[in-house]
Amino acid sequence: MSTSIQTYGAHPGATVTRESPIASSVAGGGAFRFDLLREDAETSARRGRIKTTRGVIETPVFMPVGTQAAVKTLDPIEVEQTGAQIVLANTYHLMLRPGVDIIAEAGGVHRFMGWSGPILTDSGGFQVFSLAANSKVTEDGVTFASHIDGSRWMMTPESVVALQLGFDSDIAMQLDHVLGLPAERLAIEEATERSARWLDRAVIAFRNQAGPETRSVLFGIQQGGMDADLRVRSARRVTDADVAGCAIGGLSVGETKPVMAEMLEITTPHLPREKPRYLMGVGSPEDLWHGVARGVDMFDCVLPTRAARNGALYTPDGRIAIGNARFKHLHAPIDDSCDCAACTRFSAAYIHHLFRSGELLGMRLASIHNLRFLARQMEEIRMALDTGTFASALAAFDARYRPVSARVQSGNTETLQTGAGDGRQ
Ligand SMILES: [Zn+2]
Repeated sequence: MSTSIQTYGAHPGATVTRESPIASSVAGGGAFRFDLLREDAETSARRGRIKTTRGVIETPVFMPVGTQAAVKTLDPIEVEQTGAQIVLANTYHLMLRPGVDIIAEAGGVHRFMGWSGPILTDSGGFQVFSLAANSKVTEDGVTFASHIDGSRWMMTPESVVALQLGFDSDIAMQLDHVLGLPAERLAIEEATERSARWLDRAVIAFRNQAGPETRSVLFGIQQGGMDADLRVRSARRVTDADVAGCAIGGLSVGETKPVMAEMLEITTPHLPREKPRYLMGVGSPEDLWHGVARGVDMFDCVLPTRAARNGALYTPDGRIAIGNARFKHLHAPIDDSCDCAACTRFSAAYIHHLFRSGELLGMRLASIHNLRFLARQMEEIRMALDTGTFASALAAFDARYRPVSARVQSGNTETLQTGAGDGRQ
């Protein structure tokens, strides 16, 4: 028997369901808890709830990315008003600039960036292998040259844990060995095995370094390229590890949507039911819906904000280019079903004008709209899961929304494979 209570957060009308979870896990001495509330009967979709010391995260969730401790062009209050429950920051970038000492001095990354909700910090593995120059992997870790000034740095599984504890992030990620694809199977296997050994070291480092008062927990990352056997083997290694959650890495690197779907279908049955599952670097509307259908709980991507800065805005029918002449005379909202500041206060013609004129307000309004659009997709997904109508909601979404690409869009300029997605405008 479940009862619902009304909440009065950023989006009144959202309900919180009080009921007994069907599976749960606790980490960090109770600082972190995941409750699996419902599993969809027709798909692998799951409705859950993460509790951290800095707030509750209803899942499935999309997490906006603030690579350098800022969601580009937006104030954290605006980010929160889009319905964001948690944001990302990036260890690689923050280590190089401003440095962990400055952030620790500020009292942690939350105080530093003015965001009081939960923060997940990516380990920086992806950036080291894609953005930094001359990266060299040994069993100990990876050395590389900073993309900013060429200075030499080293990251190890242990140092990456120390950095994230220094940031006081709520969810820390292990260092993993990310390979550019295509690569030889042997190379993928070696990187996958190394990532698993680095996970074991990260778990030990986390146990040793995190004090009893820590508010942080550690997630492991599954790898395995597009190889089914390696994916399964890697999923088991992450499942066996003492981590709070399981991330799926090495996808959204330019593969087609059916290939990513296949990898997810292979992976998620091998991950623990009672822990959250995080698909890294995925964030187009259609990939969120189909990722949820395959059992993913958490997503992040720079795509919605990067696309926004390039004038690409989401609507229920697909993505539009606001700079297009057809919007010049449209004195109506971009999306009349949207409740964001851009849609309730300004017309498409005005935002078209802002982009044509190079006014920064255009980028800001577009970023607000795209983040709100994705948050509303996730709200719709959670509502459908709560009411047992997810499969029909997914079919309705697919019938209307026209994807811009047959490939998974990462939106990453740092992406490892050329030609990946179309978000890198
Ligand atoms: Zn809007």
